[in-house]
Amino acid sequence: MSLQGKKALVTGGSRGIGSAIARRLAADGAAVAITYAGNKAAADETVAAIERAGGTAFAFQADASQPDSQRAGIEQAAAALGGIDILVHNAGVAEFSTITDDTDETYDRQFGVNVKGLHVGTRAAMPHLRDGGRIILIGSISGEMAFPATSIYSATKAAVAALARGWAKDLASRNILVNTVQPGPIDTDMNPADSEFAQQMIGVIPLGRYGRVEEIAGAVSFLAGPDASYITGTTLNIDGGASA
Ligand code: NDP
Repeated sequence: MSLQGKKALVTGGSRGIGSAIARRLAADGAAVAITYAGNKAAADETVAAIERAGGTAFAFQADASQPDSQRAGIEQAAAALGGIDILVHNAGVAEFSTITDDTDETYDRQFGVNVKGLHVGTRAAMPHLRDGGRIILIGSISGEMAFPATSIYSATKAAVAALARGWAKDLASRNILVNTVQPGPIDTDMNPADSEFAQQMIGVIPLGRYGRVEEIAGAVSFLAGPDASYITGTTLNIDGGASA
C-alpha cells in the first residue's frame, strides 16, 4: 500500500494500459479517477473492479482531443478526489498511414489526443496538483525509433517525451517529478498480439513476446511511489528489449 492516501488521475483509464494502471494504483492504496472518450461500459467496469477489491474510483467522460471537454473532465476528477497527487496521461490514439496517404485529419487526430490533450489536461490539473506530486506520461518507444506507417504517431510520442523533460525542469522547485514511460508492443485493443503486424513485431523483440498491460502498470506504480523520489525528466522503456 505504498500509495495509501494518495489521489491519482488516469486519462484513458477505461481500457487497455490505462485500466491496468488505474487498477494497480488503486491496489497500491490510491483513490483513483479515470477519464474515457466514449466507452462508458468499460469505464464502469474499471471502477467496479477497483471497488470490488476494496478501493475508491470515479469515472468521467472527457474527450482529450476537445479542450473544453478535457478541462471539464479534469476539473470533475480533481473535485471528486479532493486534489491530485499523481497525474497519469495515458489516453492515446494511433493510426497507420504513410507520408503518401497521411491527411490533415490523421495528423490532427493523433496530435489532438496524444499531445494537445495531454498539454491541455496538465494545465487544467496544475492548480490541483500538490507539491511533491508526480506526472507520468505514457509515450512509446515509437518516440525514439521508427516503425512502418506510423510517422505521425512517432512524432506525437517524441513530443510527449520532450514535454516531460521540460516540465521536469519547470516543476522541480515544487518537487513535482515528471517522467515518461515508453511501452513497446503491449497486447491491447490498439495493438492486439494476434494481428499480422504483431507477428512481424515479435520477430524484433528480444524477449520474443508482446508485453502485458500489468507490466506497464508496474512501472507506473514505481514512478508514482516513494522509491522514485530522485527520478525526474527521464524516459523508461518497457519493451522486452525492442529498443535496445
Ligand atoms: P487502447 O486503444 O486499448 O485504449 C485507449 C484508451 O484511451 C481507452 O481508455 C480510450 O477510451 C482512451 N482514449 C482514446 N481516445 C481518447 C480521447 N480522445 N479522449 C479520452 N480518452 C481517449 O490503447 P492502449 O491501452 O494500447 O494505449 C494506451 C496508451 O499507451 C496510449 O497512449 C498509447 O499510445 C500507448 N502505447 C500503447 C502501446 C501498445 O502497444 N498498446 C505501445 C506504446 C504506447 P475509450 O475506452 O472511451 O475509447
